[in-house]
Amino acid sequence: MSCLIQGYDLQKNFRPATPPADGQSSPGTPNKVSGLFRGIDTEASMESMKDRKIIIDDTTLRDGEQTAGVVFSLDEKKRIARMLDQIGVQELECGIPAMGAEERASVRALVDMGLAARLITWNRAVVADIQASIDTGVTAVDISLSVSDLHIAHKLHKSRDWVREQLKVALGFAKERGLYVSVGGEDSSRADLDFLAELMTIASGMGADRFRYCDTLGILDPFTMYENIRTLRERVPDLDIEVHTHNDLGMATANAIAGLRAGATFVNTTVNGLGERAGNAALEEVVMALKHACGVDPGVDTHRFVELSRFVGQASCRPVPEWKAVVGEKVFSHESGLHADGVLKNPGNYEGFDPAEVGLARHLVLGKHSGSHGLIHRLGQLGIELDRLEANDLLERVRSISQRNKRPLTDQELLTLCRSQRKVA
Ligand SMILES: [Zn+2]
Repeated sequence: MSCLIQGYDLQKNFRPATPPADGQSSPGTPNKVSGLFRGIDTEASMESMKDRKIIIDDTTLRDGEQTAGVVFSLDEKKRIARMLDQIGVQELECGIPAMGAEERASVRALVDMGLAARLITWNRAVVADIQASIDTGVTAVDISLSVSDLHIAHKLHKSRDWVREQLKVALGFAKERGLYVSVGGEDSSRADLDFLAELMTIASGMGADRFRYCDTLGILDPFTMYENIRTLRERVPDLDIEVHTHNDLGMATANAIAGLRAGATFVNTTVNGLGERAGNAALEEVVMALKHACGVDPGVDTHRFVELSRFVGQASCRPVPEWKAVVGEKVFSHESGLHADGVLKNPGNYEGFDPAEVGLARHLVLGKHSGSHGLIHRLGQLGIELDRLEANDLLERVRSISQRNKRPLTDQELLTLCRSQRKVA
């Protein structure tokens, strides 16, 4: 099978990188994979990303709450908004005023909090929707309209001409009232790029502030996302791009990063990746990926990510899986002998970043895959000194109990086991 995708040599770029000559590599510093991507130097694009300001527009309170079965109370919304604001998220998409009086009241309550973050609401490209937003006191709106021929024909039963006109009417209304406007292209990933560029040109000419490129169904891969955003940047250079990604194929975060690397300035996230169907790009993943995979600091304080994640998990009745990237309770648990030994020698051996950076702690657990170094270390912490011979005997029993119980041993079980072994000996 050919690994050449539009000039990008995948085989070459996926080949394991040669380790550095001195055998050292600092944690959190990935091997640089250089590549020419359809004639575009991706390393240069990474460099330009470092110079650009990246704005996080978190939509936990809109797309996150739009998740089937998820409802936040006003108090929960206020607490989530406060935390996001405190950690430095620059923009919050906070509701859909056209939904009704209760939603308008909750958006108004968020406006009244006087947060530093800009509040933006979601609207159809309909004057009445935008007026409902204005009534809440927000000064920024996302005006969304379907842009793919599939949606235009089978959802709207309209034409491209109708979409152009709808955009002009809604955007004209919003700009006349001095609003900051993101024009949202629903189903952008299945739309004709020429038509998107045309809509963006109209939007830019009418004073829109940015264009939201939505992978509404989460069907893109990062390579196509990169190409599409790059093309739109080149075709309409004077309009900022925002990327809105979904996780249906497990690529929401990767696609968000690809969009940013291709020239987007704004990125939509949600806490824990909450959102329609399989969710959106997770705030914590996007921020940590920017910091540790791309070397770009988006200016968000990450130390409260776990606190924020747990609160949203509870408020949304969607508990956070223990293995959830970045914030899962057990993503810094080490059991296997090799890894535990490596982490004890230097955490950087098997941790890409310090767990404290997101509010987590490291755990060494003792179970089927443990080794003697980890066992001696843990029992030492519990006040029992083991010699190597004792440790090897005990390890066999630890492994067999763990195999039988299908879980690691608790500290209490470990102590009991150790004492009983010493009695027998
Ligand atoms: Zn969405």
